Amino acid sequence: MIRVGSGHDTHRLEAGYPLILGGITIPYHRGLAGHSDADAVLHALTDALLGAVGLGDIGDAYPDTDPRWKGADSALFLAETVAKLHALGWRIGNADVTIFAQEPKLGPVKAAIRENLARLLNVDADRVNVKAKTGERVGHIGRAEAIGCHAVVLVERFDDSVSL
Ligand code: MG
Repeated sequence: MIRVGSGHDTHRLEAGYPLILGGITIPYHRGLAGHSDADAVLHALTDALLGAVGLGDIGDAYPDTDPRWKGADSALFLAETVAKLHALGWRIGNADVTIFAQEPKLGPVKAAIRENLARLLNVDADRVNVKAKTGERVGHIGRAEAIGCHAVVLVERFDDSVSL
């Protein structure tokens, strides 16, 4: 059995925050604002995994009203979700991630993000792909007011003995 999941996230770019995408801190004069560390890549990927196995969304699992998640490292959300999937008999086939950012240029950091996502997903790097798009200078992405991410994952059932 295989299943797909998709996830999307957007966060505002504001002064006074570090820019963290896919767990990698990127030099830039602004960062993403949010309750946790606002890592839109890790949030989209976590949502894709939850979606693939029918576990709702990241807001159900890690509500932004919970003080425990204030300033939280979003790697924790992803790692816990991966562990949950494994416990339910699923493994990750591949993940494809598209980051939407007018600024900064992400070409130089795509490889580092890919390696880090593979580490967090506990898969070989060839099962992870990271793409970067600008917003063509239109809309909230194109005006560099926000950074967004879309993630798609495929998961495979490896243990049918665990009930869904
Ligand atoms: Mg988010």
